[in-house]
Amino acid sequence: MFAERMKKIDSSGIRKVFELAKNMKDPINLSIGQPDFDVPDILKNEAVKAIESGFNKYTVTQGIDPLRKNVEKELDKKGIFYESSLITSGVSGGLLLAFMALIDPGDEVIIADPYFVMYTHLVSLMGGVPRYVDTYPHFRLLRSDIEKNITKKTKLIIINSPSNPTGTVYTREELTMVADLAREHGIIVLSDEIYDTFTYDGDYTHMGSLYNNTITLNGFSKSYSMTGWRIGYAAGPKDIIAEMTKLQQYTFVCAPSFAQKAAVNAFDFSMEPYIEDYKKKRDIVYNGLKDAFTVEKPHGAFYIFPEAPDGNASRFVERAIDNNVLIIPGNVFSQKDTHFRISYAVNDETLKRGVDQLNALREKVESEK
Ligand code: PLP
Repeated sequence: MFAERMKKIDSSGIRKVFELAKNMKDPINLSIGQPDFDVPDILKNEAVKAIESGFNKYTVTQGIDPLRKNVEKELDKKGIFYESSLITSGVSGGLLLAFMALIDPGDEVIIADPYFVMYTHLVSLMGGVPRYVDTYPHFRLLRSDIEKNITKKTKLIIINSPSNPTGTVYTREELTMVADLAREHGIIVLSDEIYDTFTYDGDYTHMGSLYNNTITLNGFSKSYSMTGWRIGYAAGPKDIIAEMTKLQQYTFVCAPSFAQKAAVNAFDFSMEPYIEDYKKKRDIVYNGLKDAFTVEKPHGAFYIFPEAPDGNASRFVERAIDNNVLIIPGNVFSQKDTHFRISYAVNDETLKRGVDQLNALREKVESEK
């Protein structure tokens, strides 16, 4: 009954975690992929005002002009190259449109492993072939690793910095290397920058400032905690954005009207205090775990990706769940199952309890050897 393409995707990874977690009562939940703060009041009020004033109809497909203008101003400020922009239904909407517009069956897409799960499923849904670049143990991009995965069929390289699930922020040198390779081989780069406001330790380089053939995707889900409002944007070469806009016309139609209106003013609202708070959380979790676990210090997003004892993540996650801590095993985000993801987007008290529990569990595992 179902289309062949549905065989190419499955939700077993996340489902497995929910299955394990379903009997937990009031868990220390370190699995959540969204900020623990709410949408700032000033932006909520804008959305309410839009709804109450009747701004509830379809908008133009590419998004309302004042929002696109402000998005483009923001892109200019960041030094990102683009010829055209499109307001999307979240970054997820942008990913689907970009992949539909670009990937033919058999086309290959280079994805750094560990990765955000949606990439692999959507690429597969299009009939594309993910080519995983193993970035363990430091989660850095090396020229030789990428180069050996480039073939005549390579269509896209996906860059996600800061990364979900590792929190890695790529350096200018790494991204320049990606730009050089992409230019040499005529490959498009898709840069998912949804966590770019969550960077804690200095300079951040935008892929689109180094390479013109980049589709930059970003949005308001994480930076303003609007995950349910479904609003984001895509920017890049005009022919690609035009094809994505054509597809949007027959799929999403437009991003939610009230969310577009509220987002117009979002860039004027400083999220700095929120980010400072998240930097502190990063420090709590990293400093709390680094002596007992092998772990890279994350410089962005709100995730950390330590190695599990004995490199067996699923087993460690099961035991963590038995101890009332919900974390996600690495095999949900990777071809490997050696690490686990912690989201530190929780209040400090919960985070500290979680860190203590994980350290205690680590000690228990060691003592059982
Ligand atoms: N990209 C990455 C790397 C993410 O982690 C997420 C959400 O978890 C998304 C995209 C989806 O974002 P949106 O809510 O804008 O669709």
